[in-house]
Amino acid sequence: MRKRVIVIGAGPGGVAAARRLRNRAGDRLEIVLIERTGVAEFLPGTIATVLGEAPAPHWRQPVQLRGIVVQPAEVQRATGRGVVLAGGRMLEADAVIAAPGLHLALTVVPDRPNVFAFWSPSTAEAARAAVARLRSGRLAVIISGLPYRCPPAPYSLAMQLAAFYRQQRRDVQLVLTTPEEAPLASLGHGIPEFLLRSCAAAGIEVQLGRRPDWSAASDQAITFTDGNRLAFDLALVIPPHTRAPLLATLPDDEVLVPVDERLETAEPGLFVVGDATRTPLPRTAGVATAQGLTAADAVLDRLGLTRYKGPHLPAPECYIGHGEGRYSRITIRFPDGLPPDGQPDIRLEGPSPALAAGFARVFDEWRALRTERNQ
Ligand SMILES: Cc1cc2nc3c(=O)[nH]c(=O)nc-3n(C[C@H](O)[C@H](O)[C@H](O)COP(=O)(O)OP(=O)(O)OC[C@H]3O[C@@H](n4cnc5c(N)ncnc54)[C@H](O)[C@@H]3O)c2cc1C
Repeated sequence: MRKRVIVIGAGPGGVAAARRLRNRAGDRLEIVLIERTGVAEFLPGTIATVLGEAPAPHWRQPVQLRGIVVQPAEVQRATGRGVVLAGGRMLEADAVIAAPGLHLALTVVPDRPNVFAFWSPSTAEAARAAVARLRSGRLAVIISGLPYRCPPAPYSLAMQLAAFYRQQRRDVQLVLTTPEEAPLASLGHGIPEFLLRSCAAAGIEVQLGRRPDWSAASDQAITFTDGNRLAFDLALVIPPHTRAPLLATLPDDEVLVPVDERLETAEPGLFVVGDATRTPLPRTAGVATAQGLTAADAVLDRLGLTRYKGPHLPAPECYIGHGEGRYSRITIRFPDGLPPDGQPDIRLEGPSPALAAGFARVFDEWRALRTERNQ
């Protein structure tokens, strides 16, 4: 009997893991990749969706991978011995790699006509018309809490919105609030100062150390836990991110799942990679990809197929849109290994129109990794 490995999620972590298992084990393994509808979504397309530049379907891609069974299904619970699917059916496996990302707690944010919570292309669609309609007044970009996907992206959203309204000659004032005392405080290396400078240059007011108190929010204003109040005409909210429900039964009720160096959880045989994991690394595609490769190697070692030789080093690249086609890029490398032993090498480029091609390349590569022709 061939051994079976289940991978959950067709984001960067899950796809990297599934492809690595196939490339190294070939026919010796049955690999099942479970993704809700069998279609993946490119999360960095969120901002272009809300700006009306490309609708959500543009950022979706059906998942078809040679030698991998792609099963459209909702996983209710993951264990080291298999998964429970919606409807209660159990699918057994010799190991499970879960890459479900983070869950958006959209219902925590009050449902009001001029408040939109989103952080994916699908959830951003609803805000598009309101963004296009706003002619003047104050637009607030609210970061609800930490952690959230892609730390620089809300600043990118605010700067691209500011450029959009500038271009349209509309008098819209942009305010961004964050619970952090400095943007991307843990990254350092001049990035917090760069983001504050860039926002100031775009006319965006950044309010630091602000945690929204959703129970006190109204149609026109948000109150923060420190008692401060912010009036707005339109609020775009990065909602609280919570642990994916399928991992709820793991010990420790924090948002992020504790894992060891091989990405294995407290439950033997259950590996978790990507945004869902508790590691001192930013929630980015580059980190999720490296962790998917590492977990696949660890599973192959556990099943006696190939030897584990140590973790893959992530190489995240984050694109920050400044509007009018200009992007900057934060590149992180780990030449001396992962923290806490090795220190990251952090590079900042731009803003420049030349970097727009880099963002387009990332989307092309993302698509090519999900749909392999000639099956
Ligand atoms: C606006 C924005 C901009 C970004 N920009 C960048 C950038 O420039 N650079 C960068 O590196 N990163 C960027 N990111 C972050 C990056 O997209 C994430 O870090 C990355 O997608 C995380 O990968 P993942 O595999 O952990 O999970 P995800 O990509 O979140 O994928 C999880 C998958 O699991 C599936 N799933 C979840 N639960 C279930 C279930 N119960 N059953 C079945 N399937 C399930 C989901 O449908 C999803 O397809 C950005 C994110 C956003 C929102």
